[in-house]
Amino acid sequence: MARSESDPSQDGRDAPAQRVVAQIDGKRPGPTMLVVGALHANEPAGLAAARRVHAWLCDRRDSFAGRFVAIRGHTRAPSTARYVDEDLNRAFTRERLERRNGPPSVEQVEARELLQLVAAERRLARGPVILIDLHTTSAPSLPFVAFEDTLPVRRLARATGLPMLVGLEECLQGLFFDHLCSALGIPAMVIEGGEHQAPLSVEVLSNAVRLVMARAEMVSLSPHERVELRGADHVNTSRRAGSVFDIRFRLAVVDPALTIPLGVEAFGPVRRRRTTLAIQHGVALKSPITGVAIMPNRQAERKIGDDAVFVATRVSRVWLALSAWLRRREFIHRMLPAIAPGVSAIPGRAGALRVSPRIAVVLKREVFHLLGYRVLAGSDAAVRSAPVRWLRAAGFSLATLGRAATRPWRRTPDAPASKEEEVWIVERRRLDRAAK
Ligand SMILES: [Zn+2]
Repeated sequence: MARSESDPSQDGRDAPAQRVVAQIDGKRPGPTMLVVGALHANEPAGLAAARRVHAWLCDRRDSFAGRFVAIRGHTRAPSTARYVDEDLNRAFTRERLERRNGPPSVEQVEARELLQLVAAERRLARGPVILIDLHTTSAPSLPFVAFEDTLPVRRLARATGLPMLVGLEECLQGLFFDHLCSALGIPAMVIEGGEHQAPLSVEVLSNAVRLVMARAEMVSLSPHERVELRGADHVNTSRRAGSVFDIRFRLAVVDPALTIPLGVEAFGPVRRRRTTLAIQHGVALKSPITGVAIMPNRQAERKIGDDAVFVATRVSRVWLALSAWLRRREFIHRMLPAIAPGVSAIPGRAGALRVSPRIAVVLKREVFHLLGYRVLAGSDAAVRSAPVRWLRAAGFSLATLGRAATRPWRRTPDAPASKEEEVWIVERRRLDRAAK
């Protein structure tokens, strides 16, 4: 297909900007790579990076397999604003996408149009469809890649060589990449390239896209090229490169005039009960866990309910390798409701489990995430320290086993769980279920 380019400047526009910015088909069939930039309209680096990859592919069309499409995420907001009515990267919930009463918000229209485009590409595709959503941050930050932790996406994301962040979708609703992975079964990830205006951001983003394309076997890179693409200096020299971080805590904005201390930096250390994450309404809010700060919100304008900052903890390599091994063992998933105390299958919902809250507080992170399950319902227990959670769960497990062992001799049936106890629902991730 012919190369196409739209007008670079779209400020003060009346009509929406062109959504498909550039596209190219290789000579051989292969995966379809959809690269989205400026889902937040004030983040132009993503679009510039997508254009750069497109130009690079034009030069190597003979050896390129598959299809590449560069997509403008937000076509209606001016490039000085993040969004018009609501954050587009929170608009991808079933409720918002399907709501028909009243006029839709600008972002509801944008979200529906984006999904129509993805569906059209999927119909055209002659291989798997992959989507990468490119962003930049308001504060200086190490670049990173964020995704829903499934084995197929982990494999692609690791190719970037960037720090990896998982668990965002359990803190935030309506993320674009989450909808693609969990509702549509399309491998998707977010890449944050650094600060909005940093000159290196475009380079980091376009390099990361190329590395993922190489992993997906759309292009081949020489060892030299690979080193060069990973070598955007500050990335490779960082101790954080290639590490996985799990988001455990989100602090929301309750006071738009909040201050985030300067010491709270992206990927900088945070100490439990010591580090002040933010000062809201004159109150210093300490971190409930030890870890690293992620995406401190230094936007000029903040609204109530926006993210102030996240705290994540590093996941060990052993844990990652173990989880990859366990997730591929289908019998474990079949046996879980039979052997784990307080866990039961939900009739008619493959891959979903009902979990007693007392066991869930410990199993959520340590076991369900390890096995590739996502918590759909249940309150967060990140604030409790691990030893406390383990003790509670051990006590509960013993009690459950004791009840089961003595059941034949008891006259009274087990008491139903009390109404106040919120039952947790966990579900095995769709892309893991599909991966063989
Ligand atoms: Zn963004």
